[in-house]
Amino acid sequence: MSDAPESGFSLELGEDLARTRDWLHEFVASVIRPAGAEWDEREETPWPVLEEAAKIGLYSLDFYTRQYLEPSGLGIPVVFEELFWGDAGIGMSLVGSTLAALSVVANGTPEQVGEWCPQMFGGPGDVKLGAFCSSEPEAGSDVAAIRTRATYDAATREWVLNGVKTWATNGGIADVHVVVASVDPSLGSRGQASFVVPPGTAGLSMGQKFRKHGIRASHTAEVVLSDARIPERCVLGGRDRLEERLARIREGGRAGEQAAMRTFEASRPGVAAMAVGIARAAAEYAAEYATRRVQFGRPIGQNQAVAFMLADMAAAVDAARLLTWRAAWMARQGRPFLRAEGSMSKLVAGETAVRVTEQAIQILGGNGYTRDFPVERWHRDAKIFTIFEGTSEIQRLIIGRAITGLDVR
Ligand SMILES: Cc1cc2nc3c(=O)[nH]c(=O)nc-3n(C[C@H](O)[C@H](O)[C@H](O)COP(=O)(O)OP(=O)(O)OC[C@H]3O[C@@H](n4cnc5c(N)ncnc54)[C@H](O)[C@@H]3O)c2cc1C
Repeated sequence: MSDAPESGFSLELGEDLARTRDWLHEFVASVIRPAGAEWDEREETPWPVLEEAAKIGLYSLDFYTRQYLEPSGLGIPVVFEELFWGDAGIGMSLVGSTLAALSVVANGTPEQVGEWCPQMFGGPGDVKLGAFCSSEPEAGSDVAAIRTRATYDAATREWVLNGVKTWATNGGIADVHVVVASVDPSLGSRGQASFVVPPGTAGLSMGQKFRKHGIRASHTAEVVLSDARIPERCVLGGRDRLEERLARIREGGRAGEQAAMRTFEASRPGVAAMAVGIARAAAEYAAEYATRRVQFGRPIGQNQAVAFMLADMAAAVDAARLLTWRAAWMARQGRPFLRAEGSMSKLVAGETAVRVTEQAIQILGGNGYTRDFPVERWHRDAKIFTIFEGTSEIQRLIIGRAITGLDVR
């Protein structure tokens, strides 16, 4: 304990969370980091690593739930930063299901959370996955353009889903898919709802699997829905609530948020933390390298040009982390993001990760450009953070609208 007076403000992690971080770091440093290069080359879901993680209680609904409920709000940022410090592709495989689970928590009833979330994680010896499917070939940034249709068949009391989803993390290999679909296209984004597609549903199949620039250990694919029939209870929030909401909108009542948007809003600080993890890995690696690599008779880090770059990298990582922690704390406190603080964290952390990993390559010189050193992979991995969960441009749009109150386009 320090002698500093009680200030009412602290950036100190609670004891439990600090212990969790240290426990996790050991696993990440000994299991995840060493496996990164192999699974990047294989471009496959690293099932053995997921199994190991399930065995120690890391890949589990219980573990992630505890982090989401951690009182300071920093549980998820701290855990995600550690995982992605280890490896972003494997990290994404380990957290991909949480996005699907979050959409159920954000839009579903307690019964739906209880029924579907455990089936997205499974347990040791029986690891399961969830997938969140919002994006479509014609609806990326423009979520309102979603064309996948959900129609209700009163005779069988089933929903019938038709459409093509794209870019779905764990798409087609997940046990549970959460699909955003339009129930009433005449209402645009306000006519959308989220649906759980249970395991083994006929009519859901995997389209093409994408071969990617980075996070290659994370599976990304199209999901094709062709007369996929799911029970009435699978609409998140329940059918009665959906019908009431649609009736209200048709009568000109308040719109209500888009289902997909609610999921993204809640998940942004977590995504920012992933980018912070990659950036921190690169900043640390480059600093260490700069003290060992000798040119002109001295470590390259003794040159101001290199030391200043390392200084910028370290400061940028900490700045991104502080924005991330602020947003996560606000979210946990139930404070509204009036200045789009969630988007700020995602924007800054994503761009920081890209810049810092590029600087790390520069500091490693030729070595940095080869696959014998991890920084080129980290640079490839970092780039996704200016694209998914809202591109940097979309984050700026959201922030710009929030701080001006104008309908910025
Ligand atoms: C590896 C990976 C994993 C993903 N995982 C998932 C997932 O699990 N589930 C899911 O639903 N989706 C997922 N996505 C999809 C991701 O969220 C979208 O790629 C992203 O929203 C961007 O959409 P788009 O690719 O169609 O790009 P577009 O929307 O076509 O954007 C192209 C460019 O135009 C810019 N742009 C578009 N509109 C505007 C505007 N109004 N103002 C200024 N600039 C604009 C964009 O910023 C971007 O630079 C994933 C994507 C990838 C690559």
